[in-house]
Amino acid sequence: MRASPRWLLVLCVGVIVLAGTPPAAQGPPYDMVLRGGRIVDGTGSPWYRGDVAIRGDTIVRIATEIRESAARVVDVSGLIVAPGFIDIHTHARRGIFNVPTADNYTRQGVTTVMEGPDGSSPIPLAPFLAKLDALPKSVNIGTFIGQGSIRSEVMDGVNRAATPEEIGKMRALVEAGMTDGAFGLSSGLFYVPGTFTPTSEVVELAKVAGRLGGIYISHMRNEATGVVDSVKETIAIGELGGLPTQVTHHKIIGKPYWGRSIDTLRLIDEARARAVDATVDAYPYTASSTSISAALLPASALEGSRLQTLKRLTDASTRAAVKKEVVRAMQEERGGGDPKNVVLASCEFDPSLAGKNLADVARMRNLDASVDGAADAALWIVEQGDCQGIFHAIGEEDLERILRHPATMIGSDGEVPIFGRANPHPRSYGTFVRVLGVYVRERKVLSLEEAIRKMTAFPAQRLGVADRGLLRPGMKADLVIFDASKVRDAATFERPHQYAEGVVRVVVNGQVIFENGAMTPARPGVVLYGPARRTR
Ligand SMILES: [Zn+2]
Repeated sequence: MRASPRWLLVLCVGVIVLAGTPPAAQGPPYDMVLRGGRIVDGTGSPWYRGDVAIRGDTIVRIATEIRESAARVVDVSGLIVAPGFIDIHTHARRGIFNVPTADNYTRQGVTTVMEGPDGSSPIPLAPFLAKLDALPKSVNIGTFIGQGSIRSEVMDGVNRAATPEEIGKMRALVEAGMTDGAFGLSSGLFYVPGTFTPTSEVVELAKVAGRLGGIYISHMRNEATGVVDSVKETIAIGELGGLPTQVTHHKIIGKPYWGRSIDTLRLIDEARARAVDATVDAYPYTASSTSISAALLPASALEGSRLQTLKRLTDASTRAAVKKEVVRAMQEERGGGDPKNVVLASCEFDPSLAGKNLADVARMRNLDASVDGAADAALWIVEQGDCQGIFHAIGEEDLERILRHPATMIGSDGEVPIFGRANPHPRSYGTFVRVLGVYVRERKVLSLEEAIRKMTAFPAQRLGVADRGLLRPGMKADLVIFDASKVRDAATFERPHQYAEGVVRVVVNGQVIFENGAMTPARPGVVLYGPARRTR
């Protein structure tokens, strides 16, 4: 059959339709092109010069030069272009609903925050995740399910081993958390009620998270005198539970124990050598932060409810025994050997106490400013309703050794503060840029590429997030653009409410959330779900 002109026309139109609309009719091929930056791609490989093209929420092309038109072309010459930072340990749920822009994080280049650390998470997770999903926010957020919260739910925080029936209930809650979208099981075996949990019980829960593709991440039982045994325990839980295991915010607390990171990191190396998938995260500060009660009082004083704690402290001999433990913690552990090394971060019962140290509080209470007087002041604080504290008791050498280790990634352990309120640990404002400014540029502890790997591809791989953490075509367009010569943390312990400097522009899911020193109106953050999520 000979094709009639009409058939030819239909054929031609068909070919044109199949080939797609001509580019001119479709508008520019890219939504944004970042031109001329130094690309640090997250792998740890040396930087290279190139252009990055974004369409929608995705990186679609990276090349030496991208000449095609774009809705927006941004000159980033002289600047570093890196994947957005992924913070594997945050307490963002305290503040993300007050400050959905999470300025303290986004201005550092953090584009994803992980919640539910230290054994503490909402139970069940689904309503919390739905509420987060509905919240217009600047950053992506995911969560772990907390072992301590699960134990409280089933056993009310008592100090005894669980019965087989209780373990069954807890395993079911881990499974529910994982299928709701958790990335794994977190524990805080230092805290009540985690501290009452035998290792074997944690292993039983870890097995469930592991079977569903999750990881185990632990604020260990003891980061001072028992730090080596605690790392052994964390490794054993990974080994017996059959899942990746992570020592979170690894540090050595208390001067008598400084130097033990040599042993703890050797344990990590040995575990890895026998195929146990053990890793570490850390923040770049020599002070930690938690409540005064958790840091300084023995777990036996904190068992059960707050009322029970208060009642115990009214008994003279119990109080004396508790005080003895507080004195020891002041001398050897989080107290840092000097009451001045314990600074109050925030106190709901008296906000004016924020910024004062335990020696100041002792004097205010007409006590002497010795460790003994400070211990009495600490008990008084707990009785009044407790405070968050900052504890200067970490050695710099251990910190650098831990940061340098190839199996260590960066995590802030921070929160989303309300700007100007209370006296929080500066890690919330400065962790990532402090690593880049102090430990890369000034002290040269890490190369820029290695530091960025620890903030991007490494945590993404750890979480099993396959489409973030690298600059590659096909990956989600989470990016940070910064000036390597200027990036720095401005937040200090004395003046924590100061944003990071040197970060020029931050992109989340293809949308600019921060530029020209200000947050934009874009709220492109999404909830990230773990590997076992089932949608109901
Ligand atoms: Zn912790």
